[in-house]
Amino acid sequence: MTDPYTDCVHAGMHPDPATGAVMPALHLATTFERGADGSYPRGYSYSREANPNRLALEQTLAQLEGGVAAFALPSGMAAANTMFAALDPGDHVVAPSQCYYGIGELLRGPWSRWGLEVSFVDLCDLAAVRAATQANTRLIWAESPANPLLRICDLAALAEIAHAADALLAVDNSAATPLGQQPLALGADVVMHSTTKYLAGHCDALGGALVVGHEGAVSDRLREQQKVAGIVPSPFDCWLIRRGILTLGARMEMHARHAQAVAEFLNQHPRVTAVHYPGLQNDPGHALASRQMKSFGGLLSFQIDGDADAALRVAARTQRFTRATSFGGPESLIEHRASIEGPHAVVPPSLLRLSVGLESIECLIADLAQALEGE
Ligand SMILES: *Cc1c(COP(=O)(O)O)cnc(C)c1O
Repeated sequence: MTDPYTDCVHAGMHPDPATGAVMPALHLATTFERGADGSYPRGYSYSREANPNRLALEQTLAQLEGGVAAFALPSGMAAANTMFAALDPGDHVVAPSQCYYGIGELLRGPWSRWGLEVSFVDLCDLAAVRAATQANTRLIWAESPANPLLRICDLAALAEIAHAADALLAVDNSAATPLGQQPLALGADVVMHSTTKYLAGHCDALGGALVVGHEGAVSDRLREQQKVAGIVPSPFDCWLIRRGILTLGARMEMHARHAQAVAEFLNQHPRVTAVHYPGLQNDPGHALASRQMKSFGGLLSFQIDGDADAALRVAARTQRFTRATSFGGPESLIEHRASIEGPHAVVPPSLLRLSVGLESIECLIADLAQALEGE
């Protein structure tokens, strides 16, 4: 029997046959010996094509997402880029008007110049998504929960719309993790991760991945991008990310429990005008998230009764939350999103995003309380 918690610990992991080492060795070699007959009896020839540390990570990610294959890539953005590179010039992509801002930049910049057509729509509005599909639509890109308002879109319904249009649905699952949500089981074709976040889990490794639910022309193109275009992560980053996944189950349970407590604290605070967290009963995505997610994750955002400067002052007064971008590490982070996102950002100026970490929940809430009450 296997399940995702067991897979986090065991998938792709085997005691080393030569030494009995329980944890995998780091394989830095770029080239591997051929047999006397010229074949590669152990399956490895050159590190760009395959590497033991990358393979262990890819087997783990495929198993965790319930996919048939996974491609580990050097960053989350490299993973998104590789997905778009599998399309042809003239193809049309439906992308969210609110999502991780780098994805929008990538589609508006290099991929538009290369000839992809893109429509940005509110993915929570299924009629608008349906209306945006065209004869040349080949991909719907989704993110749920989506940055920065943690909005939830209906992945099963989007898969149906995509398939009716002869397109694929790809889902950025970085915020939920495979323990929180399994997009392939909901009908998606490809899952993308910034493994930099919860999977690596310690803010010390950059990585990305694509996991495919079925083989076909698209998985062939992704494989070609990885191997022929050379979009590969280092063995050490793969090793670090696989090690991070060992504790993903324990970490995500704690991140989600702490985020729920912080969200409930903020939700009743007089200076807070809105809290965006799908675990809150009054969140517009709560009912849908309760159906399609197993856990609501550790990321939330909130708005205060003031302008951007007031929000920055709240962030400046926190002592336990570190002012930094990103999420998914053990330490709690606070970030003023409007000042990091690009010119197309649709972030309210008073919004602060929290990556709720693994410190004591009493410390975190006390810190936010004093930061909000400081003026
Ligand atoms: C961080 C992030 C990315 C980009 O990943 P990198 O590893 O920083 O390149 C994409 N999508 C989401 C949701 C992210 O949080």
